[in-house]
Amino acid sequence: MGEFDLIRRYFDRPLEAAARPFVQLGIGDDCALLQTPPGHELAVSTDMLVAGRHFLPDVTPAALGWKCLAVNLSDLAAVGADPRAFTLALALPQADPVWLDGFAHGLFECAAQHGCSLVGGDTTRGPLNVCITIFGTVPAGQALRRDGAHPDEDVWVSGQLGEAALGLRFRSQVPGLQPVDAEAVVHVFAALERPQPRMALGRALRGVASAALDVSDGLLGDLGHILSASGGLGATLDVTALPISDNLRVQTDAVRWSCALAGGDDYELCFTAAPARRAQVLAAAAAAGVTVTRIGQIDAAPGLRLVDGTGQSVPTVTAALGAQLGYDHFAYP
Ligand code: ADP
Ligand code: MG
Repeated sequence: MGEFDLIRRYFDRPLEAAARPFVQLGIGDDCALLQTPPGHELAVSTDMLVAGRHFLPDVTPAALGWKCLAVNLSDLAAVGADPRAFTLALALPQADPVWLDGFAHGLFECAAQHGCSLVGGDTTRGPLNVCITIFGTVPAGQALRRDGAHPDEDVWVSGQLGEAALGLRFRSQVPGLQPVDAEAVVHVFAALERPQPRMALGRALRGVASAALDVSDGLLGDLGHILSASGGLGATLDVTALPISDNLRVQTDAVRWSCALAGGDDYELCFTAAPARRAQVLAAAAAAGVTVTRIGQIDAAPGLRLVDGTGQSVPTVTAALGAQLGYDHFAYP
């Protein structure tokens, strides 16, 4: 199968209805032509997934197709943008029809769910590598950014933390895991392989949240990005308030806290908002059909402090995290 046959057979699909007004020209020419509606800004993000580093070699092609688009969508969700179109740069060791069929199935399932269309890309032979660039639109000036947090604001997170990281540990058969029931295993694998980007929540938080990002590398590190972008602020997090599942609660301290706080692959939104906006945050979450949890406050003093519900420091948590606390902005209580 030649390169053009491959593109035609697997990747050239009719445009999604939601993408049609935005895409003037899709696959087949030297460039795609995209139109940003008046009064909107273009939000652009790229994420590359490399075999062995971002996914296990035995992941199903459908799961990979889903996830490589979902992680890009999650970046749009983080700024409150609406997805419109994406490009796909694909390096493949060989043109395996079964693999391509599965990959395209997962990719276009995710694309259809979010109304965005594949409008171009590049295809080459090489070690498996998938790079997507996504394009979204957001009303001008309303994007949620990392640099808008202020002291005394609340810190919120959507969904549950650490499920995907626990799924990865089960997939990799890390020793010392406490067994969970079959349903829970299905749940943590789904969290790892089919993350659900929080598009509706991001959109609903426009004008409500002061800063936001998606949690892709672990809550502590990612919250650190908001703190530094917002001028070197700090935060106090109540670890007893973190939204973690029973699957994580039964694990050892080391597994539980490293998954929940430094695990990565959550694709939940972490955001800040003034306390006066609590009701609006909850209304936005209800409208989006997503749970949100208030997990702490922003401090004027730099550094991250982990505490329990009474404000006391939590040496067992910091000990369990060990070296994972060694990122730039961490301060032990
Ligand atoms: P060019 O050589 O002009 O860069 P290519 O020959 O690489 O173009 O690609 C032909 C057309 O197919 C272009 O419109 C390109 O965007 C599209 N294309 C190539 N690979 C992919 C892919 N993996 N997914 C979607 N579109 C692709
Ligand atoms: Mg060309």
